[in-house]
Amino acid sequence: MNAFENALMQLDRALTHMNIDSNIAEQLRHPKREIWVSIPVKMDDGSVRVFQGYRVQYNDARGPTKGGIRYHPNVDINEVRALAAWMTWKNAVVGIPYGGAKGGVVVNPKELSERELENLSRGYIRGIYEFIGPELDIPAPDVYTNPRVMAWMMDEYSKIARKNVFGVITGKPLEIGGSAGRNTATAKGAFYVIEEAKKLLGLEKPTVSIQGFGNAGYYLALFLHDSGYRVVGISDSKGSIYNPDGLDPVKVMEHKRETGSVIEFPGATTDKDPRATLYYDVDIVVPAALENQITKENADKLNAKYVAEVANGPTTLEADEILHERGIFLTPDILTNAGGVTVSYFEWVQNNYGYYWTEVEVFGKLEKVIKQSFYDILEIRDSKKVDMRTAAYILAVSRVAKAMELRGWK
Ligand code: GLU
Repeated sequence: MNAFENALMQLDRALTHMNIDSNIAEQLRHPKREIWVSIPVKMDDGSVRVFQGYRVQYNDARGPTKGGIRYHPNVDINEVRALAAWMTWKNAVVGIPYGGAKGGVVVNPKELSERELENLSRGYIRGIYEFIGPELDIPAPDVYTNPRVMAWMMDEYSKIARKNVFGVITGKPLEIGGSAGRNTATAKGAFYVIEEAKKLLGLEKPTVSIQGFGNAGYYLALFLHDSGYRVVGISDSKGSIYNPDGLDPVKVMEHKRETGSVIEFPGATTDKDPRATLYYDVDIVVPAALENQITKENADKLNAKYVAEVANGPTTLEADEILHERGIFLTPDILTNAGGVTVSYFEWVQNNYGYYWTEVEVFGKLEKVIKQSFYDILEIRDSKKVDMRTAAYILAVSRVAKAMELRGWK
């Protein structure tokens, strides 16, 4: 099953609890527009390599489409479609005025020189130029892209437009229209969600295991560690480490910088399976890597009380049902990782106004948005007697459907 099939099944499950016009429902199952581009890049050895890029704009009923760009060797169109659909629901669930989109380039950026990476990033923007813009579609970082890549992309767009267009891309460096707090925003949002869940479940000094040690996983580990949680498990693509006495995220990151991975961290046991981190005996498991990690094959192996989805789409629909039956609480991706895009929205607002906020202001606003969404979802969960993901979908899909209906799209 591919990620888009999973995304559609999640949608269909939510629709069974809703009273949505069938003409609207039919449109919700299809992306509005897909852009496929071939990106030729002159490599350092003089040869030209052509990379495949995609941008899927799923639904723009609530505003311009918005979502990140992923650089990964396994990117394919169905993954990008799924990620674009999830962005649509995510933006609706936190009530920011955007539709959903996602981009992807089939590439392993670790194999490219800085010059090749810059040319690829600029080439991708030239390919999709006419379909993006501050009022049309606004890209941002995702897996293996970062503020430096966003800077090149914004610059390329601005060169073609012959003016500075900061609001076309978010997740930019601070010096060129970025927002305070954007770099740690996904982790901050997840932290707010986990804090509320902790209260709800009555967890004290919880133990945590985190799959994925990228931007989101690392900063989340740091925030949790600093707030009295015990981070006992961490993984990256090379394997998992475990220490029941706790791991210091800063030291683990130093080790990763020196050796290229978290594995073999002194004092911890190493398991070469990156999924081992999902099975440790902890209160909270945080998948913060890629999709399709918790499936019907391994959902029984989880030992946690609570799964906080920081990755997009880490749990398949079948695994969802197993976790739900086992009484494991779950906060879905479209809520748990919405902090990133919410601060992207703040960045875009600041670009449009040319007036910039402090980090305290940014996180104050973020905290309100995330907590409000958490309790909105909880209320639907209790009144409709559904799981948290279905409740989040009901909230999101009803907002998108209402916008479509008001615009006369049926
Ligand atoms: N890539 C992030 C996500 O999956 C952020 C998207 C954005 O900021 O537009 O939510």
